Amino acid sequence: MNVKLINYTANPIETAFVAARTCYSGDGPEKLWELSISDGENKIPEEKMHSLLDKVIASGHLSVLEHISFTFAIEGISRACSHQLVRHRIANFSQQSQRYVSIKRDAFVIPSTIKANREARKIFDELIDSAKSAYDKLVELGIPKEDARFVIPNAAKTNIVMTMNFRELYNVCQIRLCTRAQWEIRTLFWKIKGELAKVEELKGLADYLQPKCVILGYCPEHRSCGLYPTREEVVGDDS
Ligand SMILES: Cc1cc2nc3c(=O)[nH]c(=O)nc-3n(C[C@H](O)[C@H](O)[C@H](O)COP(=O)(O)OP(=O)(O)OC[C@H]3O[C@@H](n4cnc5c(N)ncnc54)[C@H](O)[C@@H]3O)c2cc1C
Repeated sequence: MNVKLINYTANPIETAFVAARTCYSGDGPEKLWELSISDGENKIPEEKMHSLLDKVIASGHLSVLEHISFTFAIEGISRACSHQLVRHRIANFSQQSQRYVSIKRDAFVIPSTIKANREARKIFDELIDSAKSAYDKLVELGIPKEDARFVIPNAAKTNIVMTMNFRELYNVCQIRLCTRAQWEIRTLFWKIKGELAKVEELKGLADYLQPKCVILGYCPEHRSCGLYPTREEVVGDDS
């Protein structure tokens, strides 16, 4: 899997800061914007902007985060993973079409559990060979790719461009960075967080992207992975 941040809102912290500050200031957003991006002595310090963002996030005033968005190039995830990804409705997706692009033999994701087990790997490879052979024969018979693909398993690789605003990214990371999420989509969102962390001006935003337990201070699942105790373990059983 390869994930690359290919575009994002320019001056992201300043943009969210102006959105938040506008709600509580007698000054208009244009003036606040000029103060945010100016190089002069009146410039609003970056720490002040981060401090306001900390407050709005802690208070749940999350709509200000919708003014920042990110576009990612995502390559080589399985269709099993992309099915889960596109369930997130507050995002935009453009996915490689199986109607137009032929399926290649080497374009299948192999889970590590299968790679590590010789017998499982043999079963997996035989199934992929058989499915690919059936696909090729159907295409040769003149069956359109949109129908031949019905024999292709979820392991088939796909490419997607995804645009997501920061509010949705903040929400989605809470559930997809959790160890309870399926490994491939969990890996994807850790890579997405990593892409933000690589960019100096986005590091502070990457820090907000955490599994739910880190934000709540307890695990909301029935059984904890051990990183945080469950709610019952923290407050006792109040049922
Ligand atoms: C561990 C795990 C297991 C899962 N297992 C299954 C499963 O077995 N079967 C299955 O079908 N799905 C499963 N899912 C998918 C899950 O049910 C959600 O569809 C998916 O995670 C998308 O998240 P979402 O609905 O919170 O929000 P998104 O679509 O990402 O939307 C973000 C937020 O916007 C709000 N929102 C969006 N749309 C609406 C709306 N129409 N009405 C009200 N509020 C809205 C909600 O607050 C929502 O949390 C699983 C997810 C996880 C993390």
